[in-house]
Amino acid sequence: MSYLGITALNLKWALKGPATRGYPLAPRRVIADSRGALAFAKANCIYCSVCRKKCPTGAIGVNRNQKKWAIDRLRCISCGYCVEVCPKDCLSLTTYMSPPTVTKDREVF
Ligand code: SF4
Ligand code: SF4
Repeated sequence: MSYLGITALNLKWALKGPATRGYPLAPRRVIADSRGALAFAKANCIYCSVCRKKCPTGAIGVNRNQKKWAIDRLRCISCGYCVEVCPKDCLSLTTYMSPPTVTKDREVF
């Protein structure tokens, strides 16, 4: 590419601004039917552990005795397997992403 071409390209991108977004300060545009964070409806859950067994990344934890359901948001890849297999329709994929985190704590319900 010629010197002139490179200069024109630099000017174009300098005026247009960055192609990336300053997430989370600049919210992401929500795209219909996209797969985002997993939502859990505790009221319907029977703690059968089917979702935990089917999850390919080991993101879900279930404790039947304590009636606790937990998810490691950093492991979840939003594949939707757990949503498909839950017999009580407790799980659903939203179109928003989980807030950024710096810890590996599980979210417990
Ligand atoms: S499959 Fe559904 S009902 Fe069973 S533990 Fe998971 S969320 Fe609860
Ligand atoms: S959406 Fe996929 S990766 Fe996330 S918890 Fe469910 S089965 Fe696991």
